[in-house]
Amino acid sequence: MATQTLDLYLVEELYTEEERMVRDAVREWVDERILPHIEEWAWEGRFPRELIPEMAAMNLFGATFSEYGLPGLSNVAYGLVMQELERGDSGLRSFVSVQSALVMYPIMTWGSKEQKDKWIPRLAKGEAIGCFGLTEPDFGSNPGGMRTRARRVGNDWVLNGEKAWITNGSIADVAVVWAKDDEGVIRGFLVEKGTPGFETFEHKGKYSLRASVTSQLAFTDCKVPEANRLPGAAGLKCPLSCLTQARYGIAWGALGSALATFHAALDYAKTRKQFGDAPIASHQIIQERLVWMANEITKGQLMVWRLGRLKDEGRATFVQVSQAKRNSCWVARECAKLAREIHGANGVVNEYPVMRHLMNIESVYTYEGTHDMHTLILGEFLTGIPAFMPPR
Ligand code: FAD
Repeated sequence: MATQTLDLYLVEELYTEEERMVRDAVREWVDERILPHIEEWAWEGRFPRELIPEMAAMNLFGATFSEYGLPGLSNVAYGLVMQELERGDSGLRSFVSVQSALVMYPIMTWGSKEQKDKWIPRLAKGEAIGCFGLTEPDFGSNPGGMRTRARRVGNDWVLNGEKAWITNGSIADVAVVWAKDDEGVIRGFLVEKGTPGFETFEHKGKYSLRASVTSQLAFTDCKVPEANRLPGAAGLKCPLSCLTQARYGIAWGALGSALATFHAALDYAKTRKQFGDAPIASHQIIQERLVWMANEITKGQLMVWRLGRLKDEGRATFVQVSQAKRNSCWVARECAKLAREIHGANGVVNEYPVMRHLMNIESVYTYEGTHDMHTLILGEFLTGIPAFMPPR
């Protein structure tokens, strides 16, 4: 059975043939390999690590790069990959986002030739897993306040501090870690698994992104050689530019989640009967909910497509990326809530996908800049007045 797609504005025609082919391959893989099992994995709280080689075989890691034999996909094709993965599960898309936008991107952008030669091919093949450590227990929306320190001692750096909520943290072979040096400059380090003084702990008790690993990283006098510092990275703008890459993928991915909950709701509404022999889809209130979802998804599809084309032309701005991330996550969150309502009691069980998406989207709405942070980024752009700090 062909996967259902919502395409009220014929956006399909805006994609190139190659973009459609890439999308269709991932779509088919998600249908066959993810959807039949994802509820079980999420229930167990297990990331399906065994699928990494399959994702690597489809060239999903670092797909927009063309060096090291990578496919050099357009940003729209990459976005469609993210959409399809998150139609499956936000945890799966998170894995690919981190590996590509938060680990391969900084190594490609600020890494030395030796660092690139060592890590990019392994990360691309899924032989190595990466994570990105920026957030700390006391510094989430305001990462510039970070306490993790890197002190230069001879030809090494000594790291001390803690990172929190790090996707892939305890399964990563390499952690891209951001820390302040003695001058207060934020620098990036590649900390390898097994380095003495580097420990990871899994965050337990997550109701959200259950099929994804989230961890704390702890550094206690952790010695990292100068050769593992990203030589081109200095300042907060570096981790923030990684976030811009990841947020771009999330803007597409969240619409995948919205498509999943929309189609689940539409199917359910057409079959569930109440008050006689008519399906609940024949009630105006139910139709209004479906129309709201379809309308917002359609606007989102056009927004991310345009953003992708601008990104390919090198004209996308971080403000546009914030706007799209903010919009898509909000739409997906509202769609998940409406779909849950349409499912009645069935909306709370894992026989249907809506509760899983609803719980997942709470993380996606929060990470990579909360909805509020993106509001403030847009607010500053429109008014010229930054409103992040409370007035004194
Ligand atoms: P806080 O910053 O404490 O915010 C709490 C609330 O206050 C929010 O509603 C926020 O919007 C609001 N708020 C804060 N400041 C303001 C303000 N100035 N004005 C108005 N409202 C404000 N981080 C990583 O570095 N790497 C990862 O791989 C990673 N993966 C994650 C995976 C998951 C599952 C989750 C949940 C988080 C992950 N994060 C990761 C962390 C994530 O980026 C942070 O949680 C996020 O930035 C928000 O920070 P916080 O949780 O500390 O919330």
